[in-house]
Amino acid sequence: MSTVQTVTGEIDADELGLTLIHEHFFSSDEAVSAQWPHIRDRQQEHDLAVESAEAVKGHGVRTVVEPTAMLLGRDVQASRELAEETGLQIVLCTGIYTYDYLPQFLANRDADFIASLFVHDIENGIQGTDVKAAFIKCAADEPGVTPNIEKIHRAAARASLQTGAPIMAHSRPASGTGPRQVEIFLEEGVPPERIQIAHTGDTDDLGYIEGLLESGVCIGMDRYGLDLFLPTAARNATFTKLLNRGYEDRMFISQDFDIPIANGLDWYPPEVLEQLQAAGAATDWGMTFIFEEVLPALSEAGMTDQQRNTILVENPKRWLTAS
Ligand SMILES: [Zn+2]
Repeated sequence: MSTVQTVTGEIDADELGLTLIHEHFFSSDEAVSAQWPHIRDRQQEHDLAVESAEAVKGHGVRTVVEPTAMLLGRDVQASRELAEETGLQIVLCTGIYTYDYLPQFLANRDADFIASLFVHDIENGIQGTDVKAAFIKCAADEPGVTPNIEKIHRAAARASLQTGAPIMAHSRPASGTGPRQVEIFLEEGVPPERIQIAHTGDTDDLGYIEGLLESGVCIGMDRYGLDLFLPTAARNATFTKLLNRGYEDRMFISQDFDIPIANGLDWYPPEVLEQLQAAGAATDWGMTFIFEEVLPALSEAGMTDQQRNTILVENPKRWLTAS
């Protein structure tokens, strides 16, 4: 029997059901909120998270995979309270979310040491609890794969090889980070099907996307609603072309919705958020957008119910289950 770790314990992989692979109920700039906790309203964050959790449950979602890692404010207690209150299954990660910066503690230690931290979260539990991480998160963005980013990717790969946990790598197609990220994981010996290159759907460059898929990895079409990176119509057209080319077994769909960010509680103050919204950056962004607009449009364009089930149920199960 294959099992998956959730914040409320280990479950049979068959119990995952309909799964959103990339959403953020909680996030914070963790150094800031650790030093000035008065700027956070945890009750408001909890209430907003409950609201989205209930909304996705209304669309049949049973599991949400939350890639909130170190430096993005992973909070195992808040996640567990949310899961216990709503009955939603939440899957947490280990890993580091940075585009280059590392705190001194990690800047002065090597990839194997960082891997041992990831392994700790997967085998022992997160933040002093017995809640175990189910996958490993890392990132590359505008600065590219810098030496620090390469070190974290190698650490993620080594922790994956030791534990069987899959890897989700935030990427930035506009900076062409994906191929080098994949190359590092494969150099380290990670099986390609255990690797998910998140945010690949931010581009409609099929040559770039198929270049990644040819290496055998999975891709995240996971930022629906973030029009600032790519509008929905272009995301849908790309999605349909990839389905027609037979890639359904390695595609994920999600929104990368981040509740604190979307509500002006963290990265951006409310007035900056208003300017972004006025510019059309993320008009439709939300945790139920794909169910309300995107999936119906994809079905209209030819996606079968079986393909929909593969992408939202079977792929998450296969990727999260150690082989
Ligand atoms: Zn994300």
